[in-house]
Amino acid sequence: MNRTRSSELFRKAQELIPGGVNSPVRAFRAVGGTPPFIKSARGSKIYDADGNEYIDYVGSWGPMILGHCHPAITEAAVKALENGASFGAPTELEVEMAELVIKCVPSVEMVRMVNSGTEATMSAIRVARGYTGRDKIVKCEGCYHGHEDSFLVKAGSGLTTFGVPTSPGVPKDVSKNTLTVPYNSLEAVEAIIAANKGEIACIILEPVPGNMGCIEPGAGYLEGLRKITEREGIILIFDEVMSGFRLALGGAQERFGVTPDMTTMGKIIGGGLPVGAYGGKKELMQKVSPVGPVYQAGTLSGNPLAMSAGIVTLKELMKPGVYEALEKKSVRLETGLKKVAAKYPVPASFTRVGSMSTVFFAPGPVFDYESALKSDTARFGKFFMGMLERGVNLAPSQFEAGFMSLAHSDEDIDRTIAAADEVWATL
Ligand SMILES: *Cc1c(COP(=O)(O)O)cnc(C)c1O
Repeated sequence: MNRTRSSELFRKAQELIPGGVNSPVRAFRAVGGTPPFIKSARGSKIYDADGNEYIDYVGSWGPMILGHCHPAITEAAVKALENGASFGAPTELEVEMAELVIKCVPSVEMVRMVNSGTEATMSAIRVARGYTGRDKIVKCEGCYHGHEDSFLVKAGSGLTTFGVPTSPGVPKDVSKNTLTVPYNSLEAVEAIIAANKGEIACIILEPVPGNMGCIEPGAGYLEGLRKITEREGIILIFDEVMSGFRLALGGAQERFGVTPDMTTMGKIIGGGLPVGAYGGKKELMQKVSPVGPVYQAGTLSGNPLAMSAGIVTLKELMKPGVYEALEKKSVRLETGLKKVAAKYPVPASFTRVGSMSTVFFAPGPVFDYESALKSDTARFGKFFMGMLERGVNLAPSQFEAGFMSLAHSDEDIDRTIAAADEVWATL
């Protein structure tokens, strides 16, 4: 595959932008090679600056659940733009968006829109701290909640990919308030609570982690967290920036029947435009300014383009049969890949929850950060490049989830499986 133009652009970009990219994992450092510079996308495919086509399982890291360039989203965003890009004043679109989110997400009685997932999580923990008057937060090792200081401790996604799970530049006075526990261990949560009695404001986690690769919650884990946090007066925050509107209309909390106190959202609710949101019980959300004293604001928050794209996305997802279709496509891919893997002696372990999945090149089972880190990342890199050469775009890191969209056809999926068969034979 010829990627001359991408290589030229990457060379130039590296002189102008750190690593040539505006978000680290895009630089392909974990897999080697040059990232394709993308020019356009449609349906299940993306196209690079050299005109190459790829079946895309990144979907802009989650938002593109309807497929790229969905005509209804384009129409809504263009119409919104024609009415004015931003007003810095309330709009009817924000009311409509809030109504939709509250209707769909079980834990959300009130919601505030922001501009990214990072803003959503940093605001949610501020509310939890403001409400409880406590400073400490608990997060899970390998979960990623955006790049705000408090969360850059044993974090997943790019931090794990590059081997610096705890970022320099975070003051010790901040990170000392972030306690971490392994995902899927209630014993660890009990132990950390016992050691910090009455000091923990909240536990925040991805109910189904996608940022250390996709990990399934063990039986009773989310229910157990709910019970423990209720008992201790600790705010339970589900970071559903990735899983929200993906694992079900109401996210992981609907799928697993566990309702947290607060929820953070992003990705899908913006339909590909920059957006985030946090919401929860009225009692908590009424602590937020101007009703309450917890300050949080945003010049472009509730932006009409983002609201329009998001509203259309949610409405499409509310149509009957959508999640069943996603599940069916995802099962088709999983079944095919498992068959391929069984033909070869390479250790591999599959995880999938709904339309999120990961192939770990590890013997498995993979159920937390430690077990995910046992993966052979060099082998993943080889697999990744082999798939890219065959026109399949996966996330360029072992520690990320792949996403199915409604636009993926059975033919796309079968081509993906055939490509994987060719590549696996070389691993
Ligand atoms: C992507 C993601 C974030 C960060 O969202 P940004 O919009 O990139 O700031 C936070 N939490 C989770 C679970 C995510 O997947």
